[in-house]
Amino acid sequence: MILDGSALSQKKKLNYVKRVKYLTEKLGRAPSLHVVLVGEDPASQVYVGHKEKLCIATAVTSKLHKLDSKTTKEELKSLILKLNNDSNVDGLLVQLPLPESLKGFDPLMYIDPRKDVDGLSPMNMGLMIKGEAFAEPCTPKGIIELLREHSIELEGLKACVIGRSETVGWPMAWMLTRENATVTVCHSKTKNLKDSLKSFDLVVAAAGRPEFVSAADLKEGAIVVDVGIHRGKDAKLVGDFNPEGSEEKNLSYSPVPGGVGPMTVSTLLENLFSLIESKLDCK
Ligand code: NAD
Repeated sequence: MILDGSALSQKKKLNYVKRVKYLTEKLGRAPSLHVVLVGEDPASQVYVGHKEKLCIATAVTSKLHKLDSKTTKEELKSLILKLNNDSNVDGLLVQLPLPESLKGFDPLMYIDPRKDVDGLSPMNMGLMIKGEAFAEPCTPKGIIELLREHSIELEGLKACVIGRSETVGWPMAWMLTRENATVTVCHSKTKNLKDSLKSFDLVVAAAGRPEFVSAADLKEGAIVVDVGIHRGKDAKLVGDFNPEGSEEKNLSYSPVPGGVGPMTVSTLLENLFSLIESKLDCK
């Protein structure tokens, strides 16, 4: 089975248009998402473009604050604080990674948790454990929804999350645990990782290593969620999983492109709607 994130996000878009119309009436203006992009990182520009496109398609106001790579920590912090205090800004994110010159500066420390559409601020990460976050991290949240849409029962599954980043691996492990899966987290220091993969029902591949996992590594009938996105040799996009041989092993997997990526973007918009609804208290 293909875990088709493009189809699901298209289906959800219809509902967004209605939701935006309702929120626009309540706010007296369109919902607004502000994105801060520092520097010229090509992948970041592509991600920001996808977010902008979905905003335009759903009549959400999207504003891009483009800063050059010489921007100082003080300048970036001051812009974040200004946007935190602007009542016309509903959602705010700083596209990561930041350029080398801003190393050591963590913008997530300054974003108002009530505007934190990425759900990555320390307060929202902490509140997530209590089930009370204003917004939860988009990629793992979108993955849970993708699995649900394909009627995959997570309770009781043996799951492996490869990667322990703050944005993907850790919150993914937490969310799968919350769904009553039994989770093992693997990372760059895990020994004999490939040998152990056959014992898992579900593998989330988020190591950021092109085609790191292959069908041969997995057990018959396993489910693979492929988070990685990489430009292959011929400029084709590839993930952390090489799907060759999946059919013979009856594997279900999310494709790259068209799997996790579109779910991340649509979850971002849903987080924006939830933040506004909490503000208006009209849930
Ligand atoms: P990251 O670099 O912050 O973290 C990678 C993690 O993988 C680390 O915890 C590391 O320990 C682990 N790792 C690295 N090499 C490994 C190895 N050989 N074996 C086992 N574990 C290993 O990356 P990230 O931000 O978590 O992103 C991971 C991938 O997902 C990247 O390719 C990124 O572009 C992609 N991504 C996609 C989406 C999406 O919407 N599809 C969203 C976020 C990230």
